Amino acid sequence: MATRITKSLFLTSLECRTRAWLDLRAAPAPASEEELFRMEQGREIGERARGLFPEGRLVSNNDQDTAEGLTEKLLSDSSTKTLFEAAFVDAPFIARPDILTRHGKAWHILEVKSSFADSGSVDDYVDDLAYTAMVAARAGLKANQYSLVLLSRSYRFGDSPDLLFKTLDVTKQVRERAKEFDSLAGALAKDLLSTATPTAALVSSCRQCPYFDSQCLGKGLEHTVLELPKLSASMLKRLSDEGIVDLARLPAGLELSERQERVRDAALSGNAVFGSGLRQVLDGIPWPCHYLDFETVATVRPLYKGHACHQQVLTQFSIHHRDSIESECRHSEYLADPKKDCEKELAEELIRALGKKGSVIVYSGFEKTRIQALQARFPTLSKQLQAILDRIVDLLPVIRDHVYHPDFRGSFSIKAVLPALVPALSYKGLAIASGDTAIARFARMARGEVTGAAAAATRGALLKYCALDTMAMVRLHEVLWRRAAAKRRVAGR
Ligand code: SF4
Repeated sequence: MATRITKSLFLTSLECRTRAWLDLRAAPAPASEEELFRMEQGREIGERARGLFPEGRLVSNNDQDTAEGLTEKLLSDSSTKTLFEAAFVDAPFIARPDILTRHGKAWHILEVKSSFADSGSVDDYVDDLAYTAMVAARAGLKANQYSLVLLSRSYRFGDSPDLLFKTLDVTKQVRERAKEFDSLAGALAKDLLSTATPTAALVSSCRQCPYFDSQCLGKGLEHTVLELPKLSASMLKRLSDEGIVDLARLPAGLELSERQERVRDAALSGNAVFGSGLRQVLDGIPWPCHYLDFETVATVRPLYKGHACHQQVLTQFSIHHRDSIESECRHSEYLADPKKDCEKELAEELIRALGKKGSVIVYSGFEKTRIQALQARFPTLSKQLQAILDRIVDLLPVIRDHVYHPDFRGSFSIKAVLPALVPALSYKGLAIASGDTAIARFARMARGEVTGAAAAATRGALLKYCALDTMAMVRLHEVLWRRAAAKRRVAGR
């Protein structure tokens, strides 16, 4: 078991001490392809930020003990102006400030992030920096300024590197928060290093916790209260206080919404529910139907001329066309040339492929948002794109309002709904099986890291993945139609 507490463990423990305790003892999981791509981009931004301090010296790439010794030596050398990845320890806490630069008789600590300076995450980053400030102070470093180095929204592809960043002085906030952390640190370290697991209590982050089903509150339970949609904070608190996690133990008389009741009843009975209103909604969808799905790319540093950091660019669409529920499907698709910004060409192809008649079937609001972005970017196409927007039918609210299967486990995302309603259709075995992997692979082609035969294989895998997304909607529509038809027959008897 690791005995050193890192920033990430400390911050996790503020949300749930049990999770941090389990993290400390867990074998490191191999990073997924998309996580590796994200980390790579973070490292790249870190390296560019170092470029702002050409006199800086890098401590990193050493194990923690060597790095601590080297940091001590460099700090005592008066010629050291700036250090990158310095190492501080106040057992059991360790910290590695991104940048440390002399500021008068003390030091200025800077933390680099790949987010925009005006993003809503600045408070979280203050916590990151406050932890580092606490450990550095406990280790004896005198710091008098704390800043975040964030991305500038006005930076564009090809601009000079120094325009990429915006530095935010957060000294006051960091000092206040570091003081709070300092007062919590002793008890927190005691809990995390104890042999006894801290008592777990239901919190909203249990939803994303990898230990929920395997080692914590959801273990051994068929269905849990977290499957209830739109569970309010007050109801979650009440259930947490009463120690209720099992859906079967919901107290009688608890006020549930209609949707929550449907979820509870379906989960506890083990039977899927298809509401009576489904038939009317499906009957109201005009034919032909065009099932549409988009893929995009977005990277921290822009890929194309004139683009900003994190700019989302449409790269691909798949459309399955069908004249009626019984007829054969036709397929149209488009995949951009990664070497250039093809959004306008994609928009024109989309208008052509969707024609002027019938419903445009999507799953979630994503396609609508992207078409609106195309309208804003290409005003000359705005009218034709509006005509497409006016034909959109979103299957997600149709399912959310009328259908529930116990295997949805509280989620209405296509990845949860599909295996429950269309088990024969699966993404397993595909070379690209998620939107995040599609982004990473396309970005690598755009950056020239994947070329030749490998690029051709990637293009094939991207087309296959997107086509399966729209075929999934075709099959989903069929299942819903059959269920509604059964109700039609029962009603007509
Ligand atoms: S399931 Fe919830 S209580 Fe358990 S470790 Fe995860 S976040 Fe903490």
